[in-house]
Amino acid sequence: MGATDKYIKNYIGGALVPALSGNYLENYNPATGKVYSYLPDSEAEDVEKAVAAAEEAFAKWSGIGLQKRFRLLMRIADIIEQNMEEFAKAESTDTGKPLSMSSTVDIPRAVTNFRFFATGIVHFSTQSHYTEKEAFNFTLRQPLGVVGCISPWNLPLYLFTWKIAPALATGNCVVAKPSEWTPMTAFLLSKACIEAGLPAGVLNIVHGTGPKAGEAIVTHPQVKAISFTGGTKTGKRIASLAAPEFKKISLELGGKNPNIIFADCDFDQMMVDTLRSSFSNNGQICLCGSRILVERPLYEKFREEFIKRTRFLKVGDPFAKTSDLGALISKQQLEKVKSYIELAEMEGGTVLCGGKAPELDGKLADGWFFKPTVVEGLDNNCRFNQEEIFGPVVSLQPFDTEEEAIQLANGVRYGLSATVWTRDIAKASRMAEKLEAGIVWINCWMHRDLRTPFGGVKQSGVGREGGTEVLEFFTEAKNVCIKY
Ligand code: NAD
Repeated sequence: MGATDKYIKNYIGGALVPALSGNYLENYNPATGKVYSYLPDSEAEDVEKAVAAAEEAFAKWSGIGLQKRFRLLMRIADIIEQNMEEFAKAESTDTGKPLSMSSTVDIPRAVTNFRFFATGIVHFSTQSHYTEKEAFNFTLRQPLGVVGCISPWNLPLYLFTWKIAPALATGNCVVAKPSEWTPMTAFLLSKACIEAGLPAGVLNIVHGTGPKAGEAIVTHPQVKAISFTGGTKTGKRIASLAAPEFKKISLELGGKNPNIIFADCDFDQMMVDTLRSSFSNNGQICLCGSRILVERPLYEKFREEFIKRTRFLKVGDPFAKTSDLGALISKQQLEKVKSYIELAEMEGGTVLCGGKAPELDGKLADGWFFKPTVVEGLDNNCRFNQEEIFGPVVSLQPFDTEEEAIQLANGVRYGLSATVWTRDIAKASRMAEKLEAGIVWINCWMHRDLRTPFGGVKQSGVGREGGTEVLEFFTEAKNVCIKY
C-alpha cells in the first residue's frame, strides 16, 4: 500500500485527486494536538464529479453479476487484512485511540464488513406471494443507483465500511464521505480498492466538511439514498434536506444509553463489562452506557469497586501497550467534556473520580486527554443525565424497583441501546419488552452478530442497518405479478 501520505486525496472515477479548488483542511493527531496531514476541502463541484463517475459506472457494476461482485469485495477485505498494521496505526494516529483497539476491533471489523456483505449478497433471497388459482407474485430487488454514505469519527473505517460494503454488494455505486476528523483510513481504503481492481467510479470517496461536501451529497438529485451515522442534530438537518426529494434515508444517531444493574447479577462479569461499556474508546461509542442505574442493595458495593477499577485505568500514549484510554478526538470535544463536568457540579452532582485531564509530558503534553470520570447524585432530568456527552464520563443513579428502573431508563429523548444485568431471565425479558431502545443486551455489552438489526428509536435514529435489513435498504422492491 505504500507509506501513508501527508496529503490525502479524493478517490473519484478510480483516480486519487485533490479537491478541484486545490484547498486542504488540517488533520490533527489528537495525542499530540498537532497537525500531521492534510485532507481535501471538497465542495459541490467535487461531489458533482463523483456522482457523474458513479452514474457512469452503475450499469456495468449492477450488471456485472453476483460472483464478480463477491470476488471483488472479498479481494478488498484481503488487502485491508494484509495491511492490517498500516491501517491500525493510521486509525490510532487519526483518532487518538489505543493501537490495541484499532488493531483488534476497528480494522478487523472493516475486513469482516466486506466479507460479511460479499457473502451475504450471494445468499440473499426475496419473497414470493401466491394468489390462489390466479397468479403468483415475486419481489424483484434492484439496486437504487448512486447512493451516499456519510460516517462519523469515532469508529472511522469500521462504520464507513459498514455502509459502503452492503451498498456495493447490492449493486449500487457509492459516493461516500468519511469524517473530516478521521480521513486517513478512508484514504487507505481508496488505495486498497485500486489495488483490488474495483472498476472506476463504483466507489468514490470525497473528503471534506459536512456543510460543504456532506450537504452536496445529500442534496444531489442523482443520489437516491443517504445512509448516515452521526449526531442527532446533523441527522435532523439531513432528514430535512432529503425529504423534499423523497430520498430513502437511514439515520444512525446519538444515544444516552442506560446500563441497568440488578442486585442478583453476576457481579464479576458485570464489573468487567460495565468498565468496558463506560470507557471503551473514551466513551466515544454511540452504544456506551453512560447512565449506570444500580439497584439500591448493590449500590454501595458497586460504587466502591467501580471507582477502584476506574482509577486503575491508564490514560496515555495510544501507541503504548499499557494505555487503556488514549486521547479524545478534538480540542472541542475535550472542552465539551470539561464543560459537562462543571455543569454536573452546578447541577448538584459529586465527581467521585477523574474530572480532569491527566498530566502528561513530552510529545503528549498538548494532547487532548481526559481521565475517566464517575459522577453521582444527579436527578434524571438534569442536563448531565439527558444530553449525550460522548466522552469518558458516566453517572451513577440508584433505583428501588423494576418500574423505577424502566422510568429512569426510558426518561430521555434517545433510544439506541440498553443493557440489563440480572440472573433472573423472567425479569430480564420483562425489562427487554419495556425498554425504549433498538438494541437490548442482557448480561453482556456490544456482543455483536452482524445478522441482527442495528439501529435506534426516538431521537437515536430511523431505520436499521445490518443483516438483510440493510440489503433491503439499499435495494428497491418491485413486485412482479404473473397471471396464469
Ligand atoms: P456529526 O454529525 O458531527 O458528523 C458525522 C458526519 O456527518 C461527518 O462525516 C460530518 O462531516 C457529516 N456532516 C456534518 N454535518 C453535515 C451536514 N449538514 N450534511 C451532511 N453531512 C454532514 O457526528 P460526529 O461528531 O462525527 O459523530 C459523533 C456522533 O455520532 C455521536 O452523536 C454518536 O452518538 C453518533 N454515532 C451514532 C452511531 C449509531 O450507530 N447510532 C454510531 C457512531 C456514532
